[in-house]
Amino acid sequence: MQDDMDEACSCLFSFGVISDIQYADLDNRLNSVGTHTRYYRNALALLKEAVDCWTGDIFVLRPDFVMQLGDIIDGFNNKGGKAQSLLSLAAVLGQFNRLPCFVHHVLGNHEFYNFTRAELMNSRLFSGADFEMAPRDPKCHCFDIICNVEGTSAYYHFSPAPGFRFVVLDTFSESIIGHDDMCPISQESLRLVCSINKNEDLDSSAGLKISEKRYLSFNGALGEKQLEWLEGVLQEACFAKEKIVLFGHVPIYPINGDHADLLWDYQEALKILCSYRCVVAAFAGHTHHFSHCVDKTSGIHFVNLPGIVEVPPGSNGFGTVQVFSDRLLLYGVGQTGNLEMMFPGSVPAD
Ligand SMILES: [Zn+2]
Ligand SMILES: [Zn+2]
Repeated sequence: MQDDMDEACSCLFSFGVISDIQYADLDNRLNSVGTHTRYYRNALALLKEAVDCWTGDIFVLRPDFVMQLGDIIDGFNNKGGKAQSLLSLAAVLGQFNRLPCFVHHVLGNHEFYNFTRAELMNSRLFSGADFEMAPRDPKCHCFDIICNVEGTSAYYHFSPAPGFRFVVLDTFSESIIGHDDMCPISQESLRLVCSINKNEDLDSSAGLKISEKRYLSFNGALGEKQLEWLEGVLQEACFAKEKIVLFGHVPIYPINGDHADLLWDYQEALKILCSYRCVVAAFAGHTHHFSHCVDKTSGIHFVNLPGIVEVPPGSNGFGTVQVFSDRLLLYGVGQTGNLEMMFPGSVPAD
């Protein structure tokens, strides 16, 4: 008992994690490759359960804020037009509204199937508005008619507590989706994917070599500009002796050899992350499977969260992370496992 008390007292802060809710008012159906059932309506019930838990009486599980890692509603909502997309979004945000804490929303590919980038950047789903925003990308033309946003990308950083810097990445900064068809970024991305992926369906990796499998239209890239920004943030954070945790929808690391759900420019991103000893962990969604690995060279932890939409009734897939001075402790529910993630260079206590 005393040990539990000591552990709770030394926790600096905590945050909730949840990903790929993909709510839609639709019957269950298989995913596009026919491997997993998607429980569209149940996803909202599982989110409600997560919020109930985060607002419950078990003190140690009450997060100071929540990270929602993208694909908040499913792309099928757009079949009912914008009104349906907005209705589903309102249902999901209605649950998040019950939380007494801030919710950071990361943009996933399904957000772009329902809304334009301009709409998203002017909505509650762009939670970076109150934080250090990304500069406007002069190549992006999607914002010419929008005047109340300064940035065109959704990446930002914030410090949740002294000594820590959290970075929210925009993993579709360069992508086929999420930009106007006439935007040079969308056109360049399409050219890049088509030069490698010869499938008619650009969401298919059929026939691609492992090193090419990530060139799909549901993935994207951080892009040169965001990478440059990221390096600057890491430099400053390391100088200030802050620990860095990153969040993005598309994974940066091919955990278990999964190269189909991966940033196009993951190698460039990894090279930067691995050059700074202050980076401790990176969380992603998109794969719909819980997985974790530690990069051998840098000691950085990479975690992919399960997709709530593919969790069957009776289970769940969210988690709560407690942050200590030397490690992160993930308490997972259902398909999200428990993890002790020691910071690089820290030795686990026996
Ligand atoms: Zn998803
Ligand atoms: Zn996704």
